[in-house]
Amino acid sequence: MSVFDVAVIGAGAAGMMCAAVAGQRGKRVVLLDHAEKLAEKIRISGGGRCNFTNRVVKAEHFISANPHFCKSALAGFTPQDFIDLVDRHGIAWHEKHKGQLFCDQSSEQIIDLLRNECVDAGVQWMMPCAVSEVKRTDSPHTQEFVLQTDQGIVKCHSLVIATGGLAIPQLGATDFGLKLAREFGLKIIEPRPALVPLTFNGEQWRPLVDLAGLALQAVVSTGSGRHAPAFMEDVLFTHKGLSGPGILQISSYWQPGEPIALDLAPDSDMEALLIEAKAGGRQQLGNLLGNFWPKRLSEQWLGELATSRIADLPDRTLRELAARIKGWSVVPNGTLGYKKAEVMRGGVDTRELDQRTMQAKAVPGLYFIGEVVDVTGWLGGYNFQWAWASGVACGRGLV
Ligand SMILES: Cc1cc2nc3c(=O)[nH]c(=O)nc-3n(C[C@H](O)[C@H](O)[C@H](O)COP(=O)(O)OP(=O)(O)OC[C@H]3O[C@@H](n4cnc5c(N)ncnc54)[C@H](O)[C@@H]3O)c2cc1C
Repeated sequence: MSVFDVAVIGAGAAGMMCAAVAGQRGKRVVLLDHAEKLAEKIRISGGGRCNFTNRVVKAEHFISANPHFCKSALAGFTPQDFIDLVDRHGIAWHEKHKGQLFCDQSSEQIIDLLRNECVDAGVQWMMPCAVSEVKRTDSPHTQEFVLQTDQGIVKCHSLVIATGGLAIPQLGATDFGLKLAREFGLKIIEPRPALVPLTFNGEQWRPLVDLAGLALQAVVSTGSGRHAPAFMEDVLFTHKGLSGPGILQISSYWQPGEPIALDLAPDSDMEALLIEAKAGGRQQLGNLLGNFWPKRLSEQWLGELATSRIADLPDRTLRELAARIKGWSVVPNGTLGYKKAEVMRGGVDTRELDQRTMQAKAVPGLYFIGEVVDVTGWLGGYNFQWAWASGVACGRGLV
């Protein structure tokens, strides 16, 4: 039997961060993970270069049933704090699109950083190690968790659950954290795939199948009202539907049955352009749209109209066409699911947790951090920043 102050289940982004910080405080910490290989999700992240944070991180970059919950942890450990850590470890990095920060070389460097921080803080490892049961002793004076593992019994004073979300089950994602939360009576916000390609009914999509592989910039939105989210990003046509950063972003907000709307010419006033072009003589509609779109798209979109002279078309036709280009509304029939999702939306209801420490209010000593918690970031380094920040908040705050 092994006895520790803290056991962290899940040696991923949040778990390693938390273990290192708790170890630096002098806690005896053990990290348990069932995987053979350390931190596979970090390894494959950001196309192998790990988009480890974003220059600007605010609560509005996260989706949660309790949108203010993440603020305290995010303020306690900022993107600059992680950049400082990356710099201390001599990892070269660069900024890409919209404040996204990536390693110059490889995401393995971030795994090494976290592993070294844990080793330096005296953290012990049990990996691979499966946990089959978790019990909490019920004495009012002593708080203790007893874990049954395939390497024997582990006892700890504080238990941190950092087992991540359900995305990419082929890399060892499990519902361990969600199940455990339920066992301890905590509420769960229904989980579903997020940052995931959207699919369409086969019949509906058939006319667009030939566009597979084509990408263009669009504004993608869903829902209605003042706070309806909209993203200006690339959209990619696929054999089954739509993907690309713009679609991944909106997928996290999309509700089944709802349409999504795409502005396929976001930088232009299409209606004014078409009406003005009428005065321009012999220009064909296909040629005009070819100034904005790949030829394949304008031909497919316009069909027979592509060879029509704009001057010969009634204003109404041009207005309708412009409205369709600026607000193409389509109803996805689903997503490609957890196998292709980058993250899980939903998770442990944050109203059950203390925002400063991530401790379950009703279960002293039990903590949830990272993606298993109902805080889901946009694409762009936000999910790792949440993993680091929630891990640090817990590592600093746990007793
Ligand atoms: C393809 C892909 C690319 C991504 N790219 C980025 C990116 O560039 N930037 C970004 O911000 N986010 C990215 N993400 C999201 C990011 O990887 C996650 O949000 C982040 O890793 C969550 O951290 P976590 O510590 O909560 O969970 P994880 O990092 O997933 O760690 C969970 C750990 O728990 C272990 N575990 C699970 N179940 C059990 C169990 N039953 N017993 C023991 N151990 C268990 C797992 O083996 C794993 O090691 C990407 C995700 C994917 C899938």
